[in-house]
Amino acid sequence: MRDRNDLMIGVKPQSLSLMDDGQFVASFDRAGRLYTAYRDGHTFVRGLSGIVLEKWHEEGEPWTPKRIRVLTEEEKRTFLTDLWTKVSELIAAFRRGYGCLRVFGEERAFSPEDLERWLERILAWDVHAYARDQERFLSVYKPISILPPDQYLALVLQVTEGCHWNKCTFCDFYRDRRFRIKTEDEVRRHIAAVKEFLGDSITLRRSLFLADANALILPQERLVRLLEIIHEAFPFEGGQRALEGIYSFLDAYSGMRKTVEDFAALGSWHVKRLYLGVESGHDPLLRFVNKPGTAREALEVVSRIKAAGLSVGVIILIGLGGDAFFDAHVRDTIALLNEMPLDREDILYLSPLYVHPGSDYEEKARAFGIRALTPQELKHQIQRIREGLRFASSADRPRVSLYDVREFVY
Ligand code: SF4
Repeated sequence: MRDRNDLMIGVKPQSLSLMDDGQFVASFDRAGRLYTAYRDGHTFVRGLSGIVLEKWHEEGEPWTPKRIRVLTEEEKRTFLTDLWTKVSELIAAFRRGYGCLRVFGEERAFSPEDLERWLERILAWDVHAYARDQERFLSVYKPISILPPDQYLALVLQVTEGCHWNKCTFCDFYRDRRFRIKTEDEVRRHIAAVKEFLGDSITLRRSLFLADANALILPQERLVRLLEIIHEAFPFEGGQRALEGIYSFLDAYSGMRKTVEDFAALGSWHVKRLYLGVESGHDPLLRFVNKPGTAREALEVVSRIKAAGLSVGVIILIGLGGDAFFDAHVRDTIALLNEMPLDREDILYLSPLYVHPGSDYEEKARAFGIRALTPQELKHQIQRIREGLRFASSADRPRVSLYDVREFVY
């Protein structure tokens, strides 16, 4: 017999969560699409692409990284079918008078009819609807290979495709596509397709991310024109529906083409933060992995971005260069980070390297007799870098955060 207090429906302006006895939680956006679920200690994240990621900790493994895996197509069908059955049962129980409703934020504006419409939308997403949605995603986007962790819920626009360099030995994010810049007409069509695809799901997306790897390589005039088009399509000011800013990746090499004034002009178009894959402060290691640009250039680009009033996300690869580069990587990365004018608006991401079997990096590391770091050594490298950081004041230090690329799903 179900207890009256087991079941709760929590409503926020952009999401609705169904909770059952602390053992099951499923959250849906305003279009009724599932985006995250929790069941018996395992978390499931569904991306717009249709991918479902499962994350959990093994008992007795407090430090080791989370276990993460992508569900196979068959597992996904089973998961979505079971989820729909469970959600239908909870909604039916709620309609019979069990459980309670909590509205966060908009209580007065939220009517019983609004709730009913939302529950009906959730029930319309059965396993077949999700399968159709997955197909539609691929007609709107090329696979979104990666985003910074604070942008996983961004609204992505692919104004460019791929990476203009595409030759770093450790990176295979864009090996499946040639770099190209979309025309203004293509961007307009892309925006229309994205809006249609997302529908009410768009309200969950609070920021806008320009993809793929280095959209900011566009000449300034062309970039500003695209930002104008984006501003015609999306609000950035006034009201709850406004997006809070525009974000993008940038690499040191292409960032050197922009002046402080260029970055400041982007700021006037609500560009808020740029994410720089610095990887290491040790130039020989950057050359070893075929990363364009130098540590000095990374410092210069970060300084220009900060001087223009924008914030940065600096990404450092933990374990890059394995045992051979361990000390030099730590030493020069600490020195570089301590020279950067980072403050509380910025984020420093420490991202463990995951070597893809058969990658150029793996082959070269083998040829040079380089051993990959163990989990304990990765942890030690993170500790050493963190301990070496010196910021002007503890109140104004950037956020330092782990960036596990395996957790990414869009
Ligand atoms: S520049 Fe960035 S996206 Fe391009 S290959 Fe290198 S790491 Fe990958």
